[in-house]
Amino acid sequence: MNADCLFCRIVQADIPATILYQDELVTAFRDINPQAPTHVLVIPNEHMADLSELTLNHGETLARMMHALNEVARAEGIAASGYRILANTGADAHQEVLHLHFHLFGGRALGPLLSADA
Ligand code: 5GP
Ligand code: ZN
Repeated sequence: MNADCLFCRIVQADIPATILYQDELVTAFRDINPQAPTHVLVIPNEHMADLSELTLNHGETLARMMHALNEVARAEGIAASGYRILANTGADAHQEVLHLHFHLFGGRALGPLLSADA
């Protein structure tokens, strides 16, 4: 828990968010500025700045993040229509919040894949 971190404070319910899934390892909540009908962020409850801080000791956390993504996609009704998962990492990717998060986008046809600009 990092008291200066926005997403740590969302995990602690210090800052309100629309939480769609939470367990002892991960939290999923709606993005405040959605870029698609479904735009959800899935984060580890433990503070880590980005993917580079994941180690082999985080296997359970990573599996739980994928589980949460699956659960949310099903609950949002986009599991069959499709979705995209994205993790901006570092300055070149314009990562703005330095607490690891996967974006989940869905609910409309997204741009063609494998564009670095998407
Ligand atoms: P990044 O650019 O770091 O990959 O994405 C950060 C995301 O966090 C952005 O999509 C932004 O809209 C979202 N965000 C920033 N502040 C808040 C907030 O206070 N609450 C929620 N729910 N989302 C936020
Ligand atoms: Zn944090």
